[in-house]
Parts: sequence; structure tokens; C-alpha cells
Amino acid sequence: MERSKITDILALVLAFALLVVLVADHIQANRLGAMKPEEAQPVVAEDGKITATGVGKGIDGDVVVEVTADANKIYSVEILQQNETVGIGSVAVEQLPGQIVESNSILVDGVSGATVTSTAIKTAIREALTKAGLDPAAFEVELETVAVEKTEATLECDVLVVGAGGAGLTAAVRANQEGADVLVIEKMPMVGGNSNRAEGGMNAAGTKLEEELGLLDDSLVDGDNDLRSTVDNYIADTYRLGHDLANMDLVTRLAESSSDAIDWLTSIGAKFTGVEPTGGCKGRSYLHQPEGGVAVGEYLVQKLSSVCEEQGIEIMLNTKATEILVEEGCAIGVKAEDNEHIYTIHAKSVVLATGGFGSNFELMSSFDPSLANAVTTNHAGATGDGIMMAQAIGADTVDMEQIQLHPTVIQENGLLVSESLRSKGAIVVNTDGKRFVNDLAARDVVSQAELKQPNGYCYIVFDQNLVDNLSLAKKFIDRGFAIKGETYEELAKNLELNGDEAVQNFVQTMEKWNVDVANGEDTEFGRESMQYSLDTAPFYAIKIAPGIHHTMGGIKIDTNAQVIDTDGNVIPGLFAAGETTGGIHGGNRVGGNAVCDFVVFGRIAGAGAAAYAAGAEMQEAA
Ligand code: ADP
Repeated sequence: MERSKITDILALVLAFALLVVLVADHIQANRLGAMKPEEAQPVVAEDGKITATGVGKGIDGDVVVEVTADANKIYSVEILQQNETVGIGSVAVEQLPGQIVESNSILVDGVSGATVTSTAIKTAIREALTKAGLDPAAFEVELETVAVEKTEATLECDVLVVGAGGAGLTAAVRANQEGADVLVIEKMPMVGGNSNRAEGGMNAAGTKLEEELGLLDDSLVDGDNDLRSTVDNYIADTYRLGHDLANMDLVTRLAESSSDAIDWLTSIGAKFTGVEPTGGCKGRSYLHQPEGGVAVGEYLVQKLSSVCEEQGIEIMLNTKATEILVEEGCAIGVKAEDNEHIYTIHAKSVVLATGGFGSNFELMSSFDPSLANAVTTNHAGATGDGIMMAQAIGADTVDMEQIQLHPTVIQENGLLVSESLRSKGAIVVNTDGKRFVNDLAARDVVSQAELKQPNGYCYIVFDQNLVDNLSLAKKFIDRGFAIKGETYEELAKNLELNGDEAVQNFVQTMEKWNVDVANGEDTEFGRESMQYSLDTAPFYAIKIAPGIHHTMGGIKIDTNAQVIDTDGNVIPGLFAAGETTGGIHGGNRVGGNAVCDFVVFGRIAGAGAAAYAAGAEMQEAA
């Protein structure tokens, strides 16, 4: 072939390739355009089906969907963009689109426990349909609930774990490691419970990491001031901050087993890379941070769930235990239900890991009527089922009236503003524009102080420097919960403060705070941690008030996680761990101790239940 012809053909091929790239780019751009829904135009296909996008507000930013429909039918729903919580909102992201297409109705039930994401998806679909020129009301079809006759079924296992939060998953893995055939039942459509929401870290004392970081060094002792992260200090801090109400044996077991618990988590693939000061512990550091500074609960729930999967431990979701079965005074299984079955589950031993009752307003207000209309940070499944089932067979309870309020909760949605914002420098200001408490005091102290302030709400205030150093803080800005100002005055004017005087107070409060930080002394309230000033614009504030967070009371257990009855005797075959139990936290739970509790006592309960199932003598098995 002539050289010029070859050049011509090459040029043609190149031109074609360029065209292909341009078309692909165009398609991609159109798709990316869908990422900016306000710019995306509906597309009408030859068969009349219309594809359009819509947006809904998720738990962490926008949920963007692409819907293909005509006047009669929704053909597909695709989620183009979302950043919902793994294991909670992600369950709705996986399940809802398919259900809506299948039923051709937006009125399918949202995913229980993932209400915000479910609502976001439905809102986005409605918007997409409207953009497509279709009437969303045409798809608001009430679905008939077909009454299903439930069939009876019998199951068997060595160890039955009720509840798949942190304690249940830990117990399941541990019992399985001891050779037991383990079955887990979980009433929600997802695992994780309240544990999935734990953010800060896991407290532990005397660990290898603390040793490496010099946190156990004698140089940290200065006369009476002992800043070491020792087991003894951890016991004393947990007991003191729990108002001396806790069971000292349980606190001691918690603290003494905490370092082993970290080693065990490491052995199943978890990594802790830092230790931070624990709130209220006078600067002592027990709070172990997972790799990458991610939220500890979600991190551990994912690790434990994947170990369950690897070890072949079955977790039955949407399956609720309703009653503990007893024979000759021993627990021998449970009755449980899902949508189609009534199960009788025979087990050699049972671990109750059903969590607390921070979403059971009737039960909480029976102890404290003022909580009837309070906001809760708890997941919907925290209704105290395990406590009531255990009581029904004679178990004792302790400290049921001890219900913890967390001081920084967004009232509109129960979202918790993590303590790490205050640890990194944020302060709390009232509607008169003034500080009123050591912002880093124990949760109950800050909450009680807030309740005495005017207007029933306060603000947590921070600056751009904190946002740049704490990814968690940025989330609140992205979600639209933070109010902004380029100056202290501008921020104050954007807040709902008590008039001009409060605005001036606010400016003075911020200026005084920065002077105190520079001098290393909180002259007003004696806050210990004073290393961060708040002087980098823009400035931010989130409106907060106390919200129900943790129920400290629950089923009475001994140090082997065995359930104790009202006569003080062990109920053979019945173990309990985690928030469903009482006695560990007394009158106030230290931040980071819920995670330590579920790992330590989850391990003890799992190992004990496996040993009991194998007929072994009960021993200190952890
Ligand atoms: P903990 O930290 O003690 O593990 P969580 O709240 O994390 O507590 O987990 C408790 C789990 O138990 C939740 O996932 C909850 O849905 C589940 N649960 C509560 N009641 C029941 C029940 N009756 N049957 C099965 N699972 C239950």
C-alpha cells in the first residue's frame, strides 16, 4: 500500500477513535451531570419511558437517584450518589429501590432502623418523577398487607445469641472459637444496634499500645497526680465517674480484661493506632482509636460481622426473640418470630445481647417522667426486650433508673455531636452568649448544666482549624447542621441568641477563650485540655441540647456474665452481656466504656456459654 494511503487510513482510524472517546465522554458527562441533579435533564426514550434524577437529604449529604418510568410503571430506580452509614443507611440503599420497582409503589415500608435514608430515597424518587413530568401521586399506592399464617419451626444449636450488636457478635465469635455451634438471631434488618453508632473509641488500660506510647511510664506520676493509663486508675475513674454506684467486681473485671480484649480484637484483624484522653478522666488516656481515626463502632461491627461470615456463624435477621424457654430452672432456648415463622429454638445455653432501652419511652418515663418527650440517640430496636424477657423468668435487674443524657445532641434528628469535637477544642455556649460549664466535664455534669440554661438549647462552637483537623466536624457542615459566620459577631447574629447583649457576650466569650488558651488556663471553669484556640475564620456553631444516650441499668450478672435471679442465684444456661446488663457503669457511663463493656463481657459470655454448652464446669472463661 502507498505510504499516503496508510497515513490516510491511520488518520481515519485516529479520527474514529477520537469520536468514540468524545461520545463516551459525552455519555459520562451526562451521567456525571446526574451527580448534579439540578443540571440533569430528563431523557425520553423511543418507547416513551422517561429517565430523570432526583435528590433527597440523607444522613450524610445528598442521596441522588435516577428513575426510569412512564405514567403507569416505575421500571428502574438506581442510586447514583449516596454516603449513608455502612450497615444502617446502606441497607435501605440496597433494599428499597428493588422493593419500590417490584411493588410499583413509593409507599413500601421504609427499612426499619434506617428511616432517614429511606425517606431520602423516597423524596428523591418523587422529585425525579415530577421532573419527568409524571405524577408521583400515581405511585403512592397503599399496599395490601397480606396476613401470613405463620408456620411453626424448630431449630437447634449449642449456643444461641440473641441480638447482633457489639456484645452479641463478640459472644458469637468467641463461642464459635471454643468449638460451639452458634446461632445468632437479630430482630432488625441489619446487625450493629447502638454499637454501630459508637464514635469515639474503646477504653482499655495497661495495653501494649499504651506502653509503646509511654502512657504507663512512671514519669507521668507527679506526687498525687498520676496520669498513667493503668488498670487501677481505670477502675478508679470508671467507678468515680459512675458516682460510686457501680458493682466494683464488675468494674474490676472490665478493667482487668480490657487489655486482653484489645489483643483479642487485634487477633481477629482490628487495628488500634492511637490512644486519646478519655472525657472526665482528668487527662488520663484510655480511649483506643482504630486505624485511620474512623468511628470505632462501625469499624468493630464490620470486623466482627466478617469474622462471623468467615467462621460460618449464621445470623438470622428480622428474627425477634419473644420469650426465654426454661426447663427445671435452666434456660434451654427461646421462642422467636420472623415474618413467616414462629420458631422454637432449642439451645444448650443462651446469651442475651439485646442492648438497652433508650428507645422505649414508656419504660424510661416510668423511671423519669421528664424523659417522655426527650430526643434519643438510640436506634429503634433499643426497646429493652432482653431485660423484660429475663425478668419474666425471674432475673433480677439493677440501676434501671440510671439513664444517661448526652450533652451534645441535635434535637431535630437525635444525631450526636461526638465528644471528640470538644476534645479538639470546641466549647459550649448558651443563648446569652456565655460559657457556663467545663465543656469537657463528665457527660452528666455538662448535660445537667445545659438543662439549667435559658431557652432549652445551647450551641457547640468551633472554627475552621478544628474542621481541618477533624473530618467528623466537616460532616456536620456538609449535612447542613452547622451555622456559619466570618466573624464572631456575624456568627452570633446568625444564631438564635437572646438579643443584642447576647451577641456582644458571645464575641467577648470567644475573645476571652482565646486569651485563656494562650495562657494555658481556663480562668472561668477550669477545663484541663486547653491546647486549641478558636481563632481561624470562618466560625461554626451547632444547636444542641441533651438527649437520651445510654441506659446504664439492666439485667443483673456476675463477673462470668451469668444472669442472677431475684434470690441471688445464677440462672443456669443464661448469660447476658452489653447494654442489656446493669452494674458496670453505675450512675454515669464514661465515653468509650460501652465498647469496652461489649467486647469484654461479650467475650466472657461467649466463652462461658460455650463451656456450659459443652458441659464444662463454669470457670473464669474469657
Ligand atoms: P450492645 O452494645 O449491648 O451489643 P446493641 O444495641 O449494639 O447493644 O445491640 C443489641 C442488638 O440486639 C440490636 O441489634 C437489637 O436490634 C437486638 N435486639 C433487641 N431486642 C431483640 C430481640 N427481642 N430479638 C432479637 N434481637 C434483638
